[in-house]
Amino acid sequence: MVRVLEEMEEYARENHIPIMQQDGIEFLLDYIKKHQVKRILEIGTAIGYSAIRMALVDSSIHVVTIERDETRYNGALSNIKKAHVEHQITPILKDAFDVELTDIFDLIFIDAAKAQYIKFFEKFKHNLANNGVIVSDNLNFHGLTHGSLENLSRNVRGLVKKLNLYIDFLKQNEEFCTEFLEIGDGIGVSKRVSSLE
Ligand code: SAH
Ligand code: MG
Repeated sequence: MVRVLEEMEEYARENHIPIMQQDGIEFLLDYIKKHQVKRILEIGTAIGYSAIRMALVDSSIHVVTIERDETRYNGALSNIKKAHVEHQITPILKDAFDVELTDIFDLIFIDAAKAQYIKFFEKFKHNLANNGVIVSDNLNFHGLTHGSLENLSRNVRGLVKKLNLYIDFLKQNEEFCTEFLEIGDGIGVSKRVSSLE
């Protein structure tokens, strides 16, 4: 098993696929263990690395994961087989905005196009259990969301602005309360205010 994971880490490094950083993934796996999370929705499968790691926490966990890029989706399918977790993971090849789910999840992991985080959050919060959690990755965007916008390419500046809008959206949200963790590339943990009372 370790072998399959190491191969995926190496493939991601060589092909510039932004899989979750080690301390970020460890936080996520600990959270899943501690809170006995069973039903997970992931937006952004890439090659299946985080989905497989989450599924391996416990055989009673199920992960639905969405990816719009066919090559990455196919890579994920093959990795999921290699890791023997086919029965625990349901991969969907679609743009997340075209996916309609009625299932309810304990944890929703947003790790896809950084410019769309508010839209992902608003769309999929309806699939979150009352006491569930929405985890967002890459809120630091390699430290850029904390710094000045000078000297960035137009494209990167646009993404940083969008991520900062998302951070403000979470801070001002009256329905959800968010903890911002300086782990990995910056992780947001959002819970319904009503579940905290
Ligand atoms: N969660 C993965 C990494 C995901 S990288 C891991 O840690 O192992 C982000 C992925 O999101 C990319 O592969 C990209 O193709 C996908 N993505 C971006 N926007 C998307 C969208 N709107 N719908 C589905 N997938 C999307
Ligand atoms: Mg990420």
